[in-house]
Amino acid sequence: MIPMKRLLPFLLALLAVGTFSLDAQERVRWKLAMTWGPTLSPFVDAVEEMASMVEEMSGGNFVIRIDASNKHKSPFGVYDMVKAGQYEMGHSASYYYKGKNIAFQPLTTMPFGMTAPEQYAWFYYGGGMELMEEAFRPEGLLAYPGGNTGNQMGGWFRTEINGLEDLEGLKMRIPGFAGDVFSELGVTVTNIPPGELYTSLERGTIDALEWVGPGMDIKMGFHKIAPYYYTGWHEPATELLYLVNEDEFNDLPENYQAMLVAAMKLSSYNMYAENYHMSAVAWREMAEEFPNIEVRTFPEEVIAAMKEANEELIAEAKQESPLFAKILESQEEYMEGVRAWTKISDYDYLTDNLEPED
Ligand code: CA
Repeated sequence: MIPMKRLLPFLLALLAVGTFSLDAQERVRWKLAMTWGPTLSPFVDAVEEMASMVEEMSGGNFVIRIDASNKHKSPFGVYDMVKAGQYEMGHSASYYYKGKNIAFQPLTTMPFGMTAPEQYAWFYYGGGMELMEEAFRPEGLLAYPGGNTGNQMGGWFRTEINGLEDLEGLKMRIPGFAGDVFSELGVTVTNIPPGELYTSLERGTIDALEWVGPGMDIKMGFHKIAPYYYTGWHEPATELLYLVNEDEFNDLPENYQAMLVAAMKLSSYNMYAENYHMSAVAWREMAEEFPNIEVRTFPEEVIAAMKEANEELIAEAKQESPLFAKILESQEEYMEGVRAWTKISDYDYLTDNLEPED
């Protein structure tokens, strides 16, 4: 499952002819803590690919051991463990730590925010990386994009949502800023560990939930018990996160630093491609095996109310945190320009040139 391996000979050649000296033989052993369990594709694939690239580029001298959440027992403690130096690095998502700093939320995704290509353009060319550094560096942490899920689906619902009244009293698992938006609309929002989601939905403890998209949803089996699959609004470009302890990074030889940064970036882009592929394959399979699945888009009045609640919550968070305000303003300004381009390129291409249905 690692097509990027084909890139390795190229990378190795690049390193050999570059300024890096291949006689640097320092042996380095690092540990990485993931928020995820050991088999959660494609998140874990990205981390394993990153570690294997680093190991091969360093001639086997820089080895990163990966601990999944079943090993370290603290899925949402990754931030603290990396900060404390207990782990040199971690893989997680910044919005899990919005309780520490609300400015971490928009570094993952925002409801009605940018799509993945737009957001990558913002990270690397629109000032995003600098703002990420401003958020994490005071904590002694270096932060890098860790792979994108692309546009997430709005979730699985047992009943159809025809208007705002259908949201009143609905019990749903939906985390983060989007959960706060749904709360404003009368939804009873809960967060339930992934392992208990299917049973909760089946027993009616919750009426709806969102997870990611077909590629990751299919293994959870939600489509067997909740036929309405709503399109996304809340996580248009969820970017995962590599966290690195700054002191540990500074102690690395310079060539190892360069290898690590390159491997993190490549593995992140590749996870986006892998997840896109997984969803394409899974959606075809689901739609064929379960023709009762109904894809729906939330009604206009619901979308309008979501947007209004989102705007209010953003205004509150801007008051609360000057850095959140700075990041949001950067994203809002960037989105204006980049969306105009998206509209006359991908959007018009897809809407004008769609093949007629057969
Ligand atoms: Ca999600």
